[in-house]
Amino acid sequence: MATILDGKKAAEAIRSQLRDEISRLGKKPGLAAIIVGSNPASKMYVDIKERTCRETGILSERYSLPEATTESGLTELIKSLNSKKTIHAILVQLPLPKHISEHRILSAIEASKDVDGFTSHSKSQLLAGNESSVPCTPKGIIRLLELYKIPIEGKNAVIIGRSEIVGKPTALMLLNRNATVTICHSKTANLREHTLKADIIVAAAGKPGLVTAEMVRQGSAVIDVGTTKVNGRLIGDVDYEKAREKAGWITPVPGGVGPMTVAMLLENTLQCYKNIEGEK
Ligand code: NAP
Repeated sequence: MATILDGKKAAEAIRSQLRDEISRLGKKPGLAAIIVGSNPASKMYVDIKERTCRETGILSERYSLPEATTESGLTELIKSLNSKKTIHAILVQLPLPKHISEHRILSAIEASKDVDGFTSHSKSQLLAGNESSVPCTPKGIIRLLELYKIPIEGKNAVIIGRSEIVGKPTALMLLNRNATVTICHSKTANLREHTLKADIIVAAAGKPGLVTAEMVRQGSAVIDVGTTKVNGRLIGDVDYEKAREKAGWITPVPGGVGPMTVAMLLENTLQCYKNIEGEK
């Protein structure tokens, strides 16, 4: 039976350390969260981020803009936050409405305030092996693997999903740690053939039940990033109950990757603060 990777407990410990460290700083780190439109999931994520910021001693400002906001209007807001002294980190909650280019908006964020590692500058840094600004979910996944001392170097890692915010950066971070990485996606011909060779599976497709126990190699680490609301409940991509009988380690949903993502957002906010204010 697999060891459960308890993201909730790990995140609580990280938050507690951050709270102590932040209480000793000269000023409060400040995070601006921008949300455009009325997507209920986006609102829920920003609510959680705001609450945990407050609990950790981070100043949190929310900018809720209507769906009809123009790209130039949003760019102007980002420019003003780029120069605002009390704000050290800027988060744009995705997805944005279709008429706004995510790429151009994320590129407008000052590199030093890029808390999510989404700017072109941060992406090219990660590609070159520099992890000074990396997205929160991949960072949380790696932290969880490291906390539980799960071997990465020389292991086969299979990532299911190739998004810019989860799949690709997770693949690069595992590659940086000398895993042999395979990225699968919706056009992958035989997913099971790949997952059965994996020492580490990262499932980030957002398809409940995609990874069955038959696809899991005995003793492997199974990281379930997927979160899909089904009848009011959050469901992962992995058939957790059956897969945990074969896996060596497994994350629950909820309580695995989700809380780690939020903890990494707080950690990245503190890092932005230190870079800008010159505090160690
Ligand atoms: P996304 O942009 O929709 O990407 C999904 C990826 O999965 C795509 O690359 C897609 O392939 C691939 N895919 C879809 N169906 C597949 C299938 N049947 N077999 C293999 N690959 C398949 O999603 P995302 O933003 O990366 O998020 C993925 C999931 O993680 C979602 O459930 C999201 O809610 C969750 N999430 C959780 C956290 C957290 O903190 N827990 C954070 C972020 C995201 P194509 O590229 O070919 O379309």
